[in-house]
Amino acid sequence: MKSSSDNANIMPVLFVGHGSPMNAIEENEFVSVWREVEKSLPKPRAVLCVSAHWETRGTSVTAMAKPLTIHDFGGFPKELFEVQYPAHGSPELAKEVKGIITKTEVGLDENWGLDHGCWSVLRRMYPAADIPVIQLSLDYSKPAQYHFELAGELLSLRKKGILIIGSGNMVHNLQLVDWNNMDTPGVGYDWAIEANEKMKKFNLSNDFKALIDYRSQGKAFDLAIPTPEHFLPLLYTLALKQENDNLSFFNDKAVGGSLSMTSVKIGKA
Ligand code: ZN
Repeated sequence: MKSSSDNANIMPVLFVGHGSPMNAIEENEFVSVWREVEKSLPKPRAVLCVSAHWETRGTSVTAMAKPLTIHDFGGFPKELFEVQYPAHGSPELAKEVKGIITKTEVGLDENWGLDHGCWSVLRRMYPAADIPVIQLSLDYSKPAQYHFELAGELLSLRKKGILIIGSGNMVHNLQLVDWNNMDTPGVGYDWAIEANEKMKKFNLSNDFKALIDYRSQGKAFDLAIPTPEHFLPLLYTLALKQENDNLSFFNDKAVGGSLSMTSVKIGKA
C-alpha cells in the first residue's frame, strides 16, 4: 500500500486522443489544451509513447539514437509532410524497458522512428524537441488483457521521471467519419457519445476490467472500436494508475461524428 507522499515524485501518465494528423500544424482548441497539460507536468527525463500507429507481431521498443520522423498518412498538405520532429531517442532507456518487461521478449528496433501518433502531439507539447523520445509497439496478435498486464510492468519508469503517453482515440471509426464536420468539435453520433460516456464512467470507477472486456459492452462499443489499435493505448495508461492517483479528462469532445478526442491525465490533480 502506498502512502500519498509516494505520489509526490511520481510522473503523471497521459492518454492523448491525437485525432487528425493536422493537429500537428493547425491551431485549434485541442492543441491549446495539449500545451496547458504540458505546463501542469514536471519536466520529464524522457518520453515513452505507445502509439496506435505502431503495430507489430511481438513487442518492440525504438532503440536508435536519432529516430526519423515518419509521415505515416496520405492525402494531407505538403506542409505536414515537411514536419520534422528531431527529438533524440534513448538507446539506454530502450534497454531499460526491455529489461523491466518480463511478459515477453522485447525487441530493440532500429527501423521505425517516431510516427504521427507520437510526434503530432509531442511537437505541440515539447516544440523544442529537447526531450528524448522512444516508442513501444503494440503486439497486434495479443488480446486487451495482455496489453494491460504488460503496461503495468512499466510502473518503475514513472518513478524515474519518464512520461508515458498512450496515443490513440477512445472512439475511432474512420469508416463512419462525417468529413463535413471535422472542423466542428462537439458533433458526435449518438453511439459515439454513448460509448465515450460509458468509457469515461469506467475510467472514473476504476472499472478497467469493463474496458478490457470492450468486446462485451454492446453495439455502441462495437462501433466505437471497430479495430483495437486506437483504443489499446488507453489501457497502457490506465494500467499505470496507482491507488492515490487522480484521474481527470481533457479535450473531452467528439469530432467528425465518429471520433472522440477525450484524453486522460493520471497523477496529481
Ligand atoms: Zn491515429
